[in-house]
Formats: sequence, structure tokens, C-alpha cells
Amino acid sequence: MRPFTLERASDISSAIEAFKAHQQSQFIGGGTNLVDLMRANVVQAEHVVDIVGLPWHEISEREDGGVRIGSLVSNADVAWNPLIEARYPLLAKAILAGASPQLRNMATTGGNLLQRTRCYYFYDTATSCNKRNPGSGCAAKAGVNRIHAILGASESCIAVHPSDMCVALAALEAEVRVVSDAGERLIPFADFHRLPGDSPEIDNNLQAGELITAVELPKQGFAQHFSYIKIRDRQSYAFALVSVAVGLHIEGGVIQKARIALGGVAHKPWRRPEAEALLENRSIQSIDARAVADLILEGAQGLSFNEFKIPLARRAIGRALEEALGQEALS
Ligand code: SF4
Repeated sequence: MRPFTLERASDISSAIEAFKAHQQSQFIGGGTNLVDLMRANVVQAEHVVDIVGLPWHEISEREDGGVRIGSLVSNADVAWNPLIEARYPLLAKAILAGASPQLRNMATTGGNLLQRTRCYYFYDTATSCNKRNPGSGCAAKAGVNRIHAILGASESCIAVHPSDMCVALAALEAEVRVVSDAGERLIPFADFHRLPGDSPEIDNNLQAGELITAVELPKQGFAQHFSYIKIRDRQSYAFALVSVAVGLHIEGGVIQKARIALGGVAHKPWRRPEAEALLENRSIQSIDARAVADLILEGAQGLSFNEFKIPLARRAIGRALEEALGQEALS
């Protein structure tokens, strides 16, 4: 780890100012990923701005029926919050499927969105990696690519986003509230993370010096019909090979709204709105889960070690849909 200076920000403007005053700055919240990256010299920071003192530690109900989660609320406090458990159980379940209790106690909501890929080569500075060192190549393409992408990858990078929480937030169609010295803006969750394209070093659409202040959840939480299925090598403390978040709103046996997001398959939580449309305005007895899965996975491409993810994802989508439909589909 290289030497760096640390500054504790006491308010938003001083945090942004401190960040901008140095060439290589990083904000730090829980630090559960950043500290590892700095130790391994994957990220080199000259100045670290600690934002834990900023006022984003609350979960509150909004006037429009939605819920605001402050960006510094820990993952554990989100998952065990009574409001989240009651209205957004999909989010609680996804969070509890990730990491370990210790990590969930430290990791923040904003930090979860910003965590970097767990591609082995990204963390190994002796190998080529376009995300860590743009233009150097991608060791994963001809290497061990078992955990890598089957959708949305590019010639430059085949990494996947590692979060469970973000898969649920994609299905819930959350928004990300950010602030900078130019003011505030809201980013729809689908536009927050990006595909690698020719610039895999950029994970998301945050601008330099922008801070996440909150994640905004819409009123619709799919509390009655939801599922989060995570398939991984170990039962705990392992990233998803494939995960599926499903939220359904059903009235009178008809699906009014359907949202499906996949994790572990792409550089961002993967959604295919056309596949969700196949489920909407249909009676629960008449849905064709295979057609839905085929459409979500259209264009999926396996690599030497991860071909298995395609049939695995297909079956996981079917199972997640069954689980979300629950007893209602069987009655
Ligand atoms: Fe780097 Fe992406 Fe290739 Fe992994 S997949 S080695 S993160 S460029």
C-alpha cells in the first residue's frame, strides 16, 4: 500500500473541495472494497476523504410513498430495517445473500453500488487488465474465465458486477441521488452502471467529485410476489455465478407489472424489458417462463470456462419466477 493522507469531511462542500484539491483522491465510507484495492495497489490514492460524518445515515419514508435510503446506511441496517423488510423484502433478501455479517455491518449502501469487479486478474497487478491499466489487454479472455460475463461483454473486458444488492435495486427500479458542486441529480438505476465497451476502466456514470447521497425506492416494492435466487460455489461468502431478482405485481390472477434482473452475468445488473413485457397483462397460469428466459438471455455467449452459466441462468429464471408466483399460480 502506498502512503496517503486522510481527511475527515465534516460537511458536503468540504468533502467535495477536499476531493478536488488532489490529483488522485478517493472518497471512503465503509472501505470494505477500497482498502483491499489500495493494499493490492490496484487503486492508488494520494488523498482519502472520509465521508462517514456526512448526514446520510437514515432510512425514511417519502411523501409519495417511496423510501429513501441514505448512502451511508450499512447493508445490515438496510436488510434488517422493518420498513425494508415489510415493503421491499426482495432487497432485504438480496443483501443478506451477499458477503458476510461482518462485511454487511461495515459496507455502506453507496459503497455497495461502487464496489469493483472481483475478476481475479483485476486484483493481480502482474497480469494485463484493461480495467486496471487501460490498453494493457485482458488476461481473463484466454485465462480462467469461469466467473465472467455471458452478456454485454466487449473485446476489452468480460468482467461482471459483483453486487447482490444492485440486482434487487435494478428490479425495483430504484434511483440514485447524487450531489456535486454543480447541484443534485437523480440517476435511474438502469443508467447508473455501464457496460465495458472500449472503456472498461469506467464502471458507472458518476462524474468525478460526485457523491451518492441516497438510493430512492419507488412505492411499488413487490412485497407479495418476489424472489431472489443466488447460485454460487459456496453457500455463504461467495459471489454469484448467476443470480435472479424477480418482482411481480399481481391482481386478480393477472400480472400487472413484472421486473426481472440478473446478476453475475454482465458488467451491470442485466435487464431485458421486452422479456418483462411478455409477462405483463397475462394470467399467471398462461405465462411461458421458457420464452421469458430465452429473451433475457438472447445473445448470451459463453467463454472457455463459463458456458455453463447459460443453462444455469435459464433454469434460475424459471425457478425464480415460480417462487415469485408462489401458491397463487398453483391454486
Ligand atoms: Fe481486467 Fe476486465 Fe479483463 Fe478482468 S475481464 S482482466 S477486469 S479487463
